[in-house]
Amino acid sequence: MKKNNSIQEWIPFEKILEDGIIIGNDILKVDSFINHQIDCNLLWNISRHIANKFQNVDKIVTIETSGIAFAVGTAMQFDNIPVVFAKKSTSKIVDDSSCYKASVKSFTKGSINEIRIDKRFLLEGERVLVVDDFLAEGNAALGLVDILKQAKTEIVGVAVCVEKRFQGGRKKLEDLGYKVYSAASIDAFKDGKPVFHRD
Ligand code: 5GP
Repeated sequence: MKKNNSIQEWIPFEKILEDGIIIGNDILKVDSFINHQIDCNLLWNISRHIANKFQNVDKIVTIETSGIAFAVGTAMQFDNIPVVFAKKSTSKIVDDSSCYKASVKSFTKGSINEIRIDKRFLLEGERVLVVDDFLAEGNAALGLVDILKQAKTEIVGVAVCVEKRFQGGRKKLEDLGYKVYSAASIDAFKDGKPVFHRD
């Protein structure tokens, strides 16, 4: 699919340094611009960076809730491609028997969720890009990969706004052969601040 190629040279390091809050040793709270309130300028810029890294994408797949906005932002950089988000619970309007499913451990809650996507929304051979807000241990992305493999789609890669490289998710995905892109990649938390990875 065609995409808009102009892009601002901008990455969200400063925003994370200024407004991100580190909780304990392993969580970055970014609820003032990503996870609760959303900075739409930042969303648009991150989305453009993500879209610029991947070609010929037919569909974006994410997981509710925080991935959805960035998946939509990224999809809008391409030429009218849909977003599908995995649901974390059933309801009267989700027919579980018609869904692909995978189990995912939640990094922030520690619980195991079954995630699901209706089979109608994943077609064999489609080129799918996975987008999420964070990449930590990789469980959310690997759950989506599991579902995408069940559906026999072609996985173009995994893209996230913020990656905590020291938690191993990238390595797991790259070892499986998937391209990984993060708008901001953090090597460590040191003295209460993130240390960014520079390629
Ligand atoms: P993973 O499954 O890769 O271990 O963790 C990714 C998922 O957990 C993301 O969907 C994100 O919602 C959440 N997550 C992981 N680490 C963080 C973090 O440091 N901050 C926030 N806000 N969410 C995180």
